[in-house]
Amino acid sequence: MMEWKNTADVVIIGGGIIGVSTAYYLALNGVKDIVLIEKGTICGGSTGRCGAGIRAQWGTEMNCRLGIAALDIFEQLDQELGMSVGLNQGGYLLVAYNEKELETLRKGMELQNSLGIKSRQINLQEARGICPGLAADDAVGFFFHGRDGHADPFLTTFAYLEAAKRLGVTCHRHTTCTGILVENNVVRGVETDRGTLHAPVVINCAGAYAQFIARMAGIEIPNWAERHEIMITEPVAPGVCPCMLMSFSGNYYIQQRPHGSIICGMSPAGHPEDFENKSTWQFIEEMSKTLVRLLPRTRGIRIARQWSGMYDMTPDAQPIIGETDVKNFYHSTGYSGHGFMLAPVAGKILAQHITGKKPDIDFSMLDYRRFARGEHIRESNVV
Ligand SMILES: Cc1cc2nc3c(=O)[nH]c(=O)nc-3n(C[C@H](O)[C@H](O)[C@H](O)COP(=O)(O)OP(=O)(O)OC[C@H]3O[C@@H](n4cnc5c(N)ncnc54)[C@H](O)[C@@H]3O)c2cc1C
Repeated sequence: MMEWKNTADVVIIGGGIIGVSTAYYLALNGVKDIVLIEKGTICGGSTGRCGAGIRAQWGTEMNCRLGIAALDIFEQLDQELGMSVGLNQGGYLLVAYNEKELETLRKGMELQNSLGIKSRQINLQEARGICPGLAADDAVGFFFHGRDGHADPFLTTFAYLEAAKRLGVTCHRHTTCTGILVENNVVRGVETDRGTLHAPVVINCAGAYAQFIARMAGIEIPNWAERHEIMITEPVAPGVCPCMLMSFSGNYYIQQRPHGSIICGMSPAGHPEDFENKSTWQFIEEMSKTLVRLLPRTRGIRIARQWSGMYDMTPDAQPIIGETDVKNFYHSTGYSGHGFMLAPVAGKILAQHITGKKPDIDFSMLDYRRFARGEHIRESNVV
């Protein structure tokens, strides 16, 4: 175990991709004594359980701006961090099944194009050129952006962590935050099961548990945890699903990993709000049927593993980033099903803000108080 000191300049709660990338960018911006605490292991939360898709095809301007900025970072991340993050840019192929959805995706594409994201509408024949054998005759339209793709969540998080450590960041695993120290509405540090850590800045990156950390400081955020299931097949020859195949109304995402396994998931019936991380037969049955219907070549492929993880949901499916009513206590939470892909830019802009620099993207609208003000803008492009 790392030696325990009871002071730091910044304490970060949570060792998922958000906490780790925030630690890295703070250190890069010159913050010296950063301590990250994680109650379990690095990547043990949603990050290590996710599909790790990366895309810029979003329906709100904020998510588009964050998405394309994150892609820009991902494309040079191996070089920056000195380790491969497993980036694979096979594109995202979005499938629409009704006229309303087609219109929503078309509007999204226009918004994306206006922000420099080169997504385009394509026909079934072109879609089959990208995803051979695709059986989607009931679809009414397709949209594609070739720079989208996926990376490896473990490689990415550990690449950030190792780079952060080289810059002096300390990481305490198996250390649970049990309280937030607040005096006169100013944060003073955290209580943990290993002792007190005094610090003038504390950042809540606790994923699906962020709501409980916020409450320790007397702050209510409208987040909730939602269990999502996912599965992976045995490896098969490449080319079965080279892109990320995704539909919001069809409720699926499917992609083939570089080693040949196909990973796929869908939103759960009933949207279970629990922390159980349990898996069900119903999911396997439903997901397998969808997979074979869309990609008939997958018939007979065996499922290697299934698992589940938490989406850290907000009422508008956009994150909460920024200051709180307690001075110097920050949130970076509520990433729903897209925190992996947004982590590079989320960490970067919050670190810029905390160190007094102008953030690359103005994220003031992601303030958690937007919900009380009724200012949330719902993101439609989510599974
Ligand atoms: C099935 C599934 C598929 C997904 N697919 C994608 C995808 O394709 N693309 C994408 O971008 N995103 C995807 N996501 C979402 C993505 O996983 C999350 O948005 C992202 O990992 C959030 O990162 P995080 O660091 O906020 O949370 P986490 O990775 O959950 O990290 C938070 C950490 O905080 C720790 N913690 C909690 N409480 C305390 C405490 N009291 N003290 C100390 N530590 C604490 C936890 O142990 C945890 O390790 C998916 C999620 C799931 C479940």
